Amino acid sequence: MRRKIVAGNWKMNGSKDLVNSLVGQIRSELASLDNGVEAVIIPPALFVGDVVRQADGQIAVGVQNIACWDSGAYTGEISAGMAKDSGCGYSLVGHSERRQLFGETDEQVSVKVVKALASGLDAVICVGETLDEREAGKAEDVVSGQVRKAVSEVGAGQWQQVVIAYEPVWAIGTGKTATAEDAQAMHAAIRAVLKSLGAPADEISLLYGGSVKADNAAALFAQPDIDGGLIGGASLNAEDFVSICRAMP
Ligand code: PEP
Repeated sequence: MRRKIVAGNWKMNGSKDLVNSLVGQIRSELASLDNGVEAVIIPPALFVGDVVRQADGQIAVGVQNIACWDSGAYTGEISAGMAKDSGCGYSLVGHSERRQLFGETDEQVSVKVVKALASGLDAVICVGETLDEREAGKAEDVVSGQVRKAVSEVGAGQWQQVVIAYEPVWAIGTGKTATAEDAQAMHAAIRAVLKSLGAPADEISLLYGGSVKADNAAALFAQPDIDGGLIGGASLNAEDFVSICRAMP
C-alpha cells in the first residue's frame, strides 16, 4: 500500500500569527477525515517548532531544504539532523526554486537525499521540466535523469523514506496545471524508472505539484499513479488545504 500524502509548502511565507490560526484549524478539520491521507506542513524553518507544537502529532511537519553537511562552519544552513531533532519527519529536496534560484545541482540533490535518509527524515524529492524542455519534447528525459541522479545513493532498506514529487516548473505558482492525463503519464514514467533501478516502485508515493487547487485536486488524485500532492499557494489557506486533503479518494 502506498502512502497518500498532501504536503503544503509555505515557501517564504507566513508568521507566528499565521501558524497559530492556520495549523489549529487544519488539525481540527482533518480530525474527521477518514480517507487515510497524511497531511504535512512545510513552513519556513524558523516556524518548525511552533508548527510541531500546534500540530500536536496529528499533522506531520517538514523543512523546505537541508544542508549537504551534518554540521560545521556553514553559516545560515540547517542540517537534516537538526530538522529531525526539531520534530520534522520530512524534508523537501531539490525544489525547482532551489534549483533555479540558488543553483542547486543534481549532485547536491543526491547528497541531500543521502543526508535526509541517514537522519531518519523522509525525502520528498522534487523533479520537473521547464516549459522549453517540454516544448522540445524532452520532458520525460529530463525528469528521468533527475530521478536517476537523485536516488542514485539510496540504500536497499531506505526506499520507504523516499517520496517523489513531479512538479513541472511551468505549473508552479502560475495557475497552469498539467492535465490529469499528462501528469499521470509522467508519474507512470517515473515509476518505470524506479522499477528499472530495482526499487520497490509500487510502494513509493509519487506526488503531483503545480497549481493544485481545491477544484482540480480530485481529477489529479484519481489517477492510478498519483498518490497525493505538493501544494504551494493553496496551502496558505486552511479551507483550501483541507479541501485538497478531502479530494483524495
Ligand atoms: C510548490 O511550491 O511546490 C508548488 C507546487 O506551488 P503552487 O502550488 O503554488 O504552484
